[in-house]
Amino acid sequence: MREVVFRIYGDLNGIKWKRFTEREISLRLNSTHSVKDLVESLGIPHGEVGMLLVDDEIEDFDRKLYGGERVSVYPVFRSIDVRSVSKTLMEYPQEAKFILDVHLGKLAKYLRMLGFDTLYEVDGEDFWLADKSEAEGRILLSLDRELLMRKNVPYPYLVRSRDPLEQLRETVEKFCLIERMEPLSRCMVCNGKLKQMEKEKILGILPEGVAETNEIFKRCDSCGKIYWSGTHTEGMKNIIDNLLKTSVKDGRCMEDE
Ligand SMILES: [Zn+2]
Repeated sequence: MREVVFRIYGDLNGIKWKRFTEREISLRLNSTHSVKDLVESLGIPHGEVGMLLVDDEIEDFDRKLYGGERVSVYPVFRSIDVRSVSKTLMEYPQEAKFILDVHLGKLAKYLRMLGFDTLYEVDGEDFWLADKSEAEGRILLSLDRELLMRKNVPYPYLVRSRDPLEQLRETVEKFCLIERMEPLSRCMVCNGKLKQMEKEKILGILPEGVAETNEIFKRCDSCGKIYWSGTHTEGMKNIIDNLLKTSVKDGRCMEDE
């Protein structure tokens, strides 16, 4: 039985299974494995890997390991552009469409609030999440590493924070969303598109006092929910202002503009 030694860099140390306490991990192999399977056996979904070196050579996930190799596993770098050399860096789709696991209901609402196409079901089971993300090319956001390691998930991303607003910031930064927001264009309840409505046409169904104090109304194409400016959009405005002020926009995002 021969050993492979993995050296784990940066924030991937916070992701790997807790039982691996060291940055350097030895695995004993009794058969040949792909480097992808072995990296995932450490608890690191492949979408988190920015670059892989096997015995100092840049490699892709299919590289077979027989024992005796040294593998360096790097996270996705924010400040260094390795796209021209890395063989493992994930290319996410140009259109940011998401699907979220059952633990991310608030994040789903926030992403819809910013106008992003976001699927979320309170009872969305793992196979449904994986199949849907594959069929529709959606980025799967999840807190569950094993879900993200399913073979048919094309664009996995492991959400780090447990706080919904922090999760929003994390997602906005990771996927360069700040310039692509379209607030109040999508229904927060069902993900349907919102269409502007003439006030006169919906007077009969508005709650008392709303028509007198608001001019702009939008209705969801799918579920019919009506949105108007007011306390609801005040909260939204605060969240967006805060994102604009505090989100880190790195060089990678600027190039896409
Ligand atoms: Zn709706």
